[in-house]
Amino acid sequence: MFIGHFAIGFAAKKSAPETSLGTLLMAALWCDLAFGVLMLAGAERAAIQSDGRFMPINLIDLPWSHSLLMTLAWALLLGGGYYLLRRRRRGAVWVGLAVLSHWVLDFISHRPDMMLYPGAARRFGLGLWDSPAATLVAEGGAFAAAVWLYCRSAPAQDAVGRWSLWALVAFLAVLYAATFFSPPPPDIRLVAVGNLLALLFPPWAAWTDRHRQSSTTLNMG
Ligand SMILES: [Zn+2]
Repeated sequence: MFIGHFAIGFAAKKSAPETSLGTLLMAALWCDLAFGVLMLAGAERAAIQSDGRFMPINLIDLPWSHSLLMTLAWALLLGGGYYLLRRRRRGAVWVGLAVLSHWVLDFISHRPDMMLYPGAARRFGLGLWDSPAATLVAEGGAFAAAVWLYCRSAPAQDAVGRWSLWALVAFLAVLYAATFFSPPPPDIRLVAVGNLLALLFPPWAAWTDRHRQSSTTLNMG
């Protein structure tokens, strides 16, 4: 459960008040969604590696979803696409930055398995996930701060906006807590499927966001 990417989506709302929380979350999660598709299609490789770390996954070869160069390309593509659809320059920049943030967060948290460009032999990663305690403090703290920021940036306009947000936050928190106690998944394909199930969250967030209003403007996408 990659709660740090959700934190980026929530926090970005303050800087891109006209952009839907659903869109911002989709952008922050993009590389993992792409990985889910490419992994199941056989175009990328990862493996379960149970060695006591918080995240028992080794990204063996993820050139298209997780190399820095491709993340930059995805950022330009999604930011550009958002601009063409919505004509919001600020939102487009933040959609692009949210996509790009994925590589930075994965670089901080992963064991050295992140590549700079497809085919690169050298791998990078600071290994925050080596320490469950440091992970909980850093990721849990970032998520709580981001939700707080979002609440201030987009106050609830009705009961739906209030309760739907707390249901979403509680659901994510429970999923996150469960990752600290659950055994490594038996099959890497389950991780890919789990990543794709995260597609449920952006529509939920978009619906919630429509019942909350940014302090400067109504958001419609
Ligand atoms: Zn990732």
